Amino acid sequence: MKYDEMRERDIEFLWHPYTEITSFGQSSFPIVESASGCRLHEIDGRVLLDGISSWWCVNLGHSHPRLVQAIQAQAAKLQHTLLGGMSHPPAIRLAEQLASIVPAGLGHAMFASDGSCAVEAALKIALQYWTNQGEEHRTRFITLQDGYHGDTLGAIGVGYIETYHGYLRPVIQPALRAISPHCNRCPLGLRPESCQVECFDTECSNAEGFESMAALIRRHNTGCAAVIVEPLCQAAAGMRIYPELYLKRLRSLCSEYGLPLIIDEIAVGFGRTGAMFACERAGIVPDIMTLGKGLTGGMLPMSATLVTDAIYNTFRATGGQNRTFFHGHTFCGNPITSAAALAALETYAEEKVVERLPDRIRILEDGMRRVSSVLGGSPLRTLGMIAAVEITEAAGAHVRARRIAARAYELGLFIRPLNNTIYLWPPLNIACADLQSMVEIVERAAMETP
Ligand code: PMP
Repeated sequence: MKYDEMRERDIEFLWHPYTEITSFGQSSFPIVESASGCRLHEIDGRVLLDGISSWWCVNLGHSHPRLVQAIQAQAAKLQHTLLGGMSHPPAIRLAEQLASIVPAGLGHAMFASDGSCAVEAALKIALQYWTNQGEEHRTRFITLQDGYHGDTLGAIGVGYIETYHGYLRPVIQPALRAISPHCNRCPLGLRPESCQVECFDTECSNAEGFESMAALIRRHNTGCAAVIVEPLCQAAAGMRIYPELYLKRLRSLCSEYGLPLIIDEIAVGFGRTGAMFACERAGIVPDIMTLGKGLTGGMLPMSATLVTDAIYNTFRATGGQNRTFFHGHTFCGNPITSAAALAALETYAEEKVVERLPDRIRILEDGMRRVSSVLGGSPLRTLGMIAAVEITEAAGAHVRARRIAARAYELGLFIRPLNNTIYLWPPLNIACADLQSMVEIVERAAMETP
């Protein structure tokens, strides 16, 4: 009864993101009232495993006592202090801590609330960086085909997809988009074993008319403000995983042309790829880096845009010119979210969350390999604690993916396919036995859903 009543009120009043409202209204969906670790407790008493760390953010599990305690303590002390013309210890400590754990050189942090806002700041910083140097004509961005960087207008410009965003075309400028390094469907038909990321610099275009990254940079760099990419995993595109070598080559080409490189670690930062940051795996340092989601262990909304000295110093007033970055949100660097982030950083370090990943990664990979074979050898993509199987059958693949998720829900696991791709993105500190249960449920759901 409690569930039915809440569901009715939900359907009447709540507009859910990324949700077709008619089919949602007809479906049954979980209503969660508490959560702990990787377990969600529904209002009707059912317990559900969280296979996607909420929205890819609850890296340290739900209700981690240390984070809850830090939030409570800070909430009792200081809730809001603006950062315009004022400061407070949690934000100062957090900026300092971040500078010490991100790739060396990214020493200045601007805070915001959501990932999209961090990306907006990164894009505006890149534009003003050039304006500060008298090159305000550099207004374009280069990115990857099918990339995703958030839902605000600037972020959509660099994550433009015609079918979703066509109606916004008159008000945004889509970025120049390079061929996606989609290894399961290599644009050049190469095999991963021998690939040298030829797709990065080949002078060719793919079926949809996109050109290679190197071709775009060489041709357009003088009109461009920056390149922005999701490192190693184009997550929203369906967990497309690409080689570290691609990022290395991108880094050196950007350096050759003096083009700032923005690496968007919002989804994969804080351990997801098996290293604290994906950039570390590739051994590169970007000029601008965006962080979000796992920054607070996914518990409160907070994001950060980090920049190098070289970029930061162009914003100093010189020769009577005001170079203030006119940007900031009411809740940026909020004391409570900063305290949560500080507790999360301590937890990542003290609980050795990244160091303890290898056993979990093995269970995840082995399990999802079995899912791939149950699904007739569908392509498996894995990177750290990300594992995805793309259902490739000719027709109705996305319907099957949705039916597998519905069956998994009946069996006690929440997953949310990306079109025809089912994936797991579990909390990083999940107990191995719980992870084992998750992969077994996905396997069984796949088996029972022809
Ligand atoms: N960048 C990337 C790579 C993301 O995956 C996301 C969110 N999934 C964002 C930016 C936007 O973050 P938010 O939803 O917090 O605005």
